[in-house]
Amino acid sequence: MIKRMDMFFLEIPLYEPFTISLGTSIKSTNIVIRLVSKEGIEGWGEASPSYSVLGETIEAVKESLGNFYRKVRDLEVDEIEKLYDVLMKYPGSPSAKAALDMAFFDLFGKMVSKPIFKLLGGYREHIETDITIGIMEPEEQAKRALRFINQGFRILKIKLGLDPEKDIERIKAIRETIGYEPVIRVDANQGWSVEQAIYVINKLAEFEVELIEQPVKWDDIRGLKKVHDESSLPIVADESVKTPADAINVIEADAVDIINIKLMKSRGIWGALKIIAISEAAGVKNMIGCMGESRIGITAGVHIAQALKNIVIYDLDSDLLLKEDIVSKGGASIDKGVRKVGDTPGLGIQSLKEDMLQLVTTFK
Ligand code: MG
Repeated sequence: MIKRMDMFFLEIPLYEPFTISLGTSIKSTNIVIRLVSKEGIEGWGEASPSYSVLGETIEAVKESLGNFYRKVRDLEVDEIEKLYDVLMKYPGSPSAKAALDMAFFDLFGKMVSKPIFKLLGGYREHIETDITIGIMEPEEQAKRALRFINQGFRILKIKLGLDPEKDIERIKAIRETIGYEPVIRVDANQGWSVEQAIYVINKLAEFEVELIEQPVKWDDIRGLKKVHDESSLPIVADESVKTPADAINVIEADAVDIINIKLMKSRGIWGALKIIAISEAAGVKNMIGCMGESRIGITAGVHIAQALKNIVIYDLDSDLLLKEDIVSKGGASIDKGVRKVGDTPGLGIQSLKEDMLQLVTTFK
C-alpha cells in the first residue's frame, strides 16, 4: 500500500542543442515521482514525455499521474500485473504509466532486498551503450564523433533523416575522421520516404553501418517492409512499436530485424517485458533506447537491459547529454560507454540532488 506520492518537475539543460528529423531540443523536461509506502520506504520513478513520438505534454503527464495515483494507491507493491491492468484501462499518458511502474519496481526491489535486474532475469552484469550525435553539418558531426571516441566511447548513434545526399556525406565525413573501428548505428527518425531510405541505406552500407532505426513514417508498415526487403542493413522499428500489439504487427508483416523498446513507449518495465517476450518468440532481437530521461529513468533502462538475454543493443545515453546529474549516489554508472547497476535493492538510487526537484503536488 502506498501512503503518499510526491510529484516533482525536473528541467535540465542539454550541453548543446540536439536536433533530430522531428525537431530540436535544448533541455529535458521531466516529471519525477516519489512513492512512499506505508512502511516509509521510498520508490522513485520518472516520466519523460515526448510530444512528437507519443503526443504527450508535461501538463498531461501531471494530470494523468494525479488520476492514476488514486486508482493504484491501494495496490501492494508486488502486484505489478494488477498495476499494469489498472493503468491500461485508461488511454494515453504512456510516460506517466512508466513512472508509476518504475516506482513500484523500486519499492518491490527494496521490499525483497534485490536489485530489479536480478528480479527480472539477471542475465548480464553490464552493458555497453552508444552515445548519440544529433543532426549537424557533416564536419561538425565528425568533430563530435571524434570527441566521443577520445572519451572512450566505442559505439556512436548518428541522427540522420533531414536530407538524403547530405546524410550520406555525414557518415562519410565521420568515417574519414574516426576510421572503421568504432561501431556506427543510424537513426533517421522517420525522415526518409521509402525510395530515399532504400537509396541512402544501400549507400551507407559502404561505410559499415551496423543498423538503421526507423527509416520511414511510423505508421507505414508496408513501406518499412519494402525498405527491409530492399536494403542491405538491419532495420530497427522504434516509433512503429509502442505496445505488444504493435510488435505483433511489424513481426507479422516481416518488416524489421530488431525492435527498439523504450520504457516511455511501453508504459514501463512490465509492458516492455511483454514486447520482449513476443520479439524473442519470433526470433527478433531487441534494442533498448530512451527519450529524455535523467539518470533516474536511465537506471531503470539499464536494469531491464542487464536482466534479459534478448536485449542486445543498448542506447541508454540521454542523461549523458544533460548538463547536470540529478543522482548524487547510486544508480547506473558510466565508464567509457560501459554501464552497470550493482546489487543495491530496487533501482539502487541511494540519493538525489533534491534541490534540483521542484515539488508540484503531494497526493495522499
Ligand atoms: Mg529512435
